[in-house]
Amino acid sequence: MTFIKIKISCLNLFSLLLLLLLFAGCTTFRSALPRPINDVLRPSSYAKIIRVAIVLTKPSATISVIGPGTLYDKIHHKRIKRFSSLGKTVFSVKNGSIFINNYNTKSSHIIILADMPQSIRLRDKFDEDIVYRGRMDVIADNNSSLTVVNTLPLDEYIMGVVPRETFPAWPLAALRAQAVAARTFAVSHIPNGKDKIYDIVSPTHQLYGGATAETPSTTKAVLDTQGEILTYKGKVLCAFFYTCCGGKTEEAKNIFSTIKEYPHAVDSPYCKGTKHYSWSYSVALPNCSQKLRKAGKYLPGQVKSVKIIERFKSGRAAKIKFSSKTKSVIITGEECRRILGYNNIRSTLFKVRIKNGRLQFIGRGWGHGVGLCQWCSEVMAEKGFDYEQILSHFYPGTEIER
Ligand SMILES: [Zn+2]
Repeated sequence: MTFIKIKISCLNLFSLLLLLLLFAGCTTFRSALPRPINDVLRPSSYAKIIRVAIVLTKPSATISVIGPGTLYDKIHHKRIKRFSSLGKTVFSVKNGSIFINNYNTKSSHIIILADMPQSIRLRDKFDEDIVYRGRMDVIADNNSSLTVVNTLPLDEYIMGVVPRETFPAWPLAALRAQAVAARTFAVSHIPNGKDKIYDIVSPTHQLYGGATAETPSTTKAVLDTQGEILTYKGKVLCAFFYTCCGGKTEEAKNIFSTIKEYPHAVDSPYCKGTKHYSWSYSVALPNCSQKLRKAGKYLPGQVKSVKIIERFKSGRAAKIKFSSKTKSVIITGEECRRILGYNNIRSTLFKVRIKNGRLQFIGRGWGHGVGLCQWCSEVMAEKGFDYEQILSHFYPGTEIER
C-alpha cells in the first residue's frame, strides 16, 4: 500500500508544485509536509496491515538488505542513513539505546525500509537468512533486549503462514481453508495489539516463514481467498486450528475460559488413520513427580496412582488426580500437557495408567482441539469438499466475509 501511495504522490508532483507556487509565502506550508513514515504505513482507518513480532526480547538481531533502502529513527523522526545495500548488520541494545553494529543510534526504535520488495533478510536461530516482505522495525523493549517487528499487508503475511502451517502439496481446498482460518485468526488479534508494538507473534500464535516459505500452491490459496475472513454472530471469529482432532473437536470454553460465544464442537472422523491420529508417551514415575513439583504441584514422595476424574463431552481429560501415599493434587488436562510437555502429551484425548514403574499415556490427536483440524481438512479436500464446506464443518454458524 505504501509503495502505491508513494507512486501516486510522485505522479502528482507536478500538481503539487503548482499548489506550492499558488501558496508560496503562505505560513501554513509546514503543515503540508509529509507525515512521518510510520503514520503513512499504518493509517488508523486502514486495518489490513499487520505487525508481526518475529524476534521477541532477544539481545541482538542480524539483518541485511540486498538493495537500496533507508534506516529511519522513529523516535526523533529523522533519517539515519540511505544505503545502496546493507551487509550483515548486528542490531543490539545497551541502556535502552539501539546500536547498529557499534554505532549508537541514541534511539529506541529504528525502522529499516527497503526500496525493493523482498529484499530484507533476518538471520534465524539456525543461522539461515530468511527473506521478508514489508518493512522491519527494531525496537528496544527494555534496557538490554530488542523485539523485531515485520510490518506488511495482511495477505502478504498470510502467504508466509499457510506453507508453514500446512504442506504445499495438500489439495487446494485444504490450503484455501487454512488461508481463511489463518487470516481470520490474525485479524482477530489486531485489536489486541492496539497498545502494543505488535499485533501477533511468530511462532507463538501461528507459524510464519516470511517470503522464504512461500510456494506457488499456498500463495494461490491466499490469492483465491483474498481478504476473506470468518465472522460469527457479526464479529470476527478467533479462528483456532491445530494439527489433528482425533475424531472430535472441543468446545472453546473448555480450553479458553475467556471465550463466551463460539461455534460448537463437532464429530469429525476424517483424520482417522492419518499420521498424528494416535500417539503414546510414557514417563518414569520419579520424573513425573519431579515435573509436578517443579510446576508447583507438590506431592510428598512418589506418584502412586493417577486417575482422570472428569472428562469433557468430547472425551478429553478435564481433571486428572495424581496421588502419592499421603496426598493428592488435581490438575486440568491442559495443565498436564504443559507440565509434561505439549509435544509429549499431544492432546488431552487420552487414557493413562501406571505400569512397570512408568506413567503410560495412550492418546488421539495433536493440539487443543478447538476449531479446524488440519488433517481432517486435508482428507475432506481429498474427498472433494470445497473450502467453504470445510470451514462450515469446523466453524458451524459462521459466515465468510470480505
Ligand atoms: Zn480431525
